[in-house]
Amino acid sequence: MSATIVRFAAPRLAAALLGVALAAPAVAQDAGAPAPQAQAAAKPRIVVIGTGGTIAGAGASSVNTGDYDSAKVAVDKIIAAVPEMSQVADVRGEQIFQIGSESFNDERLLKLAKRVSELVKQPDVDAVMITHGTDTIEETSYFLNLTLKTEKPVVIVGAMRPGTALSADGPLNLYNATVVAASPEAKGKGVLVALNDEIHSARDVTKGHALKVEAFRSLYGPLGVVVESKPYFYRLPARPHTTATEFDIDRIDSLPKVDVFYAHVTMDPKALTAIADLGGKALIYAGTGNGSVADYMEAPLAEVRKKALVVRATRTGGGMVIRNGEEKDDEQDWVAAGDQSPQKARILTALALTTTDDPKALQEIFWKY
Ligand code: ASP
Repeated sequence: MSATIVRFAAPRLAAALLGVALAAPAVAQDAGAPAPQAQAAAKPRIVVIGTGGTIAGAGASSVNTGDYDSAKVAVDKIIAAVPEMSQVADVRGEQIFQIGSESFNDERLLKLAKRVSELVKQPDVDAVMITHGTDTIEETSYFLNLTLKTEKPVVIVGAMRPGTALSADGPLNLYNATVVAASPEAKGKGVLVALNDEIHSARDVTKGHALKVEAFRSLYGPLGVVVESKPYFYRLPARPHTTATEFDIDRIDSLPKVDVFYAHVTMDPKALTAIADLGGKALIYAGTGNGSVADYMEAPLAEVRKKALVVRATRTGGGMVIRNGEEKDDEQDWVAAGDQSPQKARILTALALTTTDDPKALQEIFWKY
């Protein structure tokens, strides 16, 4: 076994040292469960697409939990190191990228989404999982949630600690994500993000901590949890996703350029206009508080609006940007991003611009999704 995956095998190793066999997970063990052979035949077939990230990372020593290289271990090795996955599903890996997710761009997003779209159309694929760096899981998952045309489970999973670290979270996250992807309850709920025993909707999930294992949160709470090899759902996504959206990945081959400007005390208006001069079709203004625009930025932003759509979001990490509140959106012809973070607003705006360049239509899209 290579050193880079030794921690993925830690529970098995510990069991061997203790001289005890690892118990099979408690799936389908009720009295009415089918015989073992029938169970095996009925196992869902899952493709795990590897993209890199910390879940495929390796550090120099077991105490490196935050200092390591991401995207080192191939997806097949990651799967092989968690044999418990095969008790729940027939799993096969497919490596599409080997990158830290901070290096995702629109081109890679499209390539990944198109591959997932191909796979979910195959009758021999029941669900798709994606191993992904945690930095931009929220953007990839939201993009897939809005563009895939499938009811099959699509579950994204990552880890905050590399497989070489003490208390690596990747193996259990991967196992739990498999449990979710294999479950009938996950069907039709949109793209899901499973980490740290929780199941989040792609629309709402965000990375809220740079280091902790408990890094992910959803503003309105997770949809459910995984406990002892079983998913428990408690909520449903209220906003349209996957089959109910007007965006279809099979009909999108490129995305318009959309940039984000981050507001702060003492901004240089020239920085804002320089971004707009790069030729983006829209600019997300990550404003302070309720998407507020500083008095000295109003004129530069009006200049930006002559070239691109302007969407006001909030840099606070929570709450809803109100239209025509403190800021006069009607007068300025701006769009309010509602509760969408600047980075998610960028994804939604880019997709919306594939169907319209009307700010009123874009505003409706923000209220809808
Ligand atoms: N920088 C890494 C990534 O997003 C972090 C992680 O995966 O946790 O790929």
